[in-house]
Amino acid sequence: MRIFDPHIHMTSRTTDDYERMYAAGVRAVVEPAFWLGQPRTSPSTFADYFDGLLGWEPYRAAQFGIVHHCTIALNPKEANDPRLTPVLDLLPRYLAKDRVVAVGEVGYDDITPAEDEALARQLALAAEHDLPVLVHTPHRDKAAGTRRTLDVVRESGLPPERVLVDHLNEMTVGMVEESGCWMGFSVYPDTKMDEDRMVAILKEYGPARTLVNSAADWGRSDPLKTRAVGDAMLAAGFSEAEVETVLWDNPVAFYGQSGRLDLSDLTPDPNYAGNTILRGAPRA
Ligand SMILES: [Zn+2]
Repeated sequence: MRIFDPHIHMTSRTTDDYERMYAAGVRAVVEPAFWLGQPRTSPSTFADYFDGLLGWEPYRAAQFGIVHHCTIALNPKEANDPRLTPVLDLLPRYLAKDRVVAVGEVGYDDITPAEDEALARQLALAAEHDLPVLVHTPHRDKAAGTRRTLDVVRESGLPPERVLVDHLNEMTVGMVEESGCWMGFSVYPDTKMDEDRMVAILKEYGPARTLVNSAADWGRSDPLKTRAVGDAMLAAGFSEAEVETVLWDNPVAFYGQSGRLDLSDLTPDPNYAGNTILRGAPRA
C-alpha cells in the first residue's frame, strides 16, 4: 500500500515514527505550518520555523525514504496575537519557495475578527500566488464554524477545487461535498474521526474527493492512522484501486495543483521501493 499523508506535523515526531511510517507504506507527506503548543511571541520565530519546514525537515524525512513538502501560513490560533500580525507580511517570501505546495493551515479557531482578517488576507495571497489552500475547521462549534468557513471561501472567489477543507466529520462532510471543495479527514486514536467511521463516510460519499490524514502532532495522535484506514477499507470490501485513490492519488491531485509537487525521488515502481528490497534494510 502506497501512502501520502497530506497533513502531518513531523517537526513534533521522532525518527521512530519516520521508520514506522516507511514500513507501513508512507512515501510522501505534507507538513502544514501550525501552532507549536507554546505560543510564539515574535514574527522572527515564524521565519525560523518556516525555514525548518523547508530545509531541515525535508532533509530528515529523506533519510527515511519519505518525500516532504509543506504548506505555509499564519495559523488561526496565533492570528489572535497582535504581535504576530507582521507574520502575514513574511508570507509572500515563503509562498514563492519550491517546496511550498499550498497556503495553510488557515481558517478559524475561535472565530474572532482577527481570524477573519488573517483568513481573508491569506485566501487573497493564495489567489495571488496561484496556490491551493488547506483550510482547518474549528474543533468547537464545528457545524457553524465550517459553514462560516465555506461562506468566506466562496466570497474569496477561489475555485472550490483549489481548496481542501480539513478535520471534517459526519456533521460537516455534507456541506463540504456540496461546496465542491476537497474533503479532508483527520483520523485520531481516540477522539473525533476513527477508521471505522471513516469507512462509513467513504461508503456514503465515495473516494473521489476524499483525503485522509493522521494530523499527527505534539498531542495524542498516531502517524500510522492513514494505513489503518487503508486496511479498514480493504476489510470493508473497497478495492486496492479505491484505497490508492484516497491514500495517494487524491493528495497528489490536490497538492499537484501548485505545480511544485516533486515526487521524483521516489522509485517509479512502488513495489520495488516499497515492499521487497528496502523493507527492513538499514538506511544511512
Ligand atoms: Zn494540523
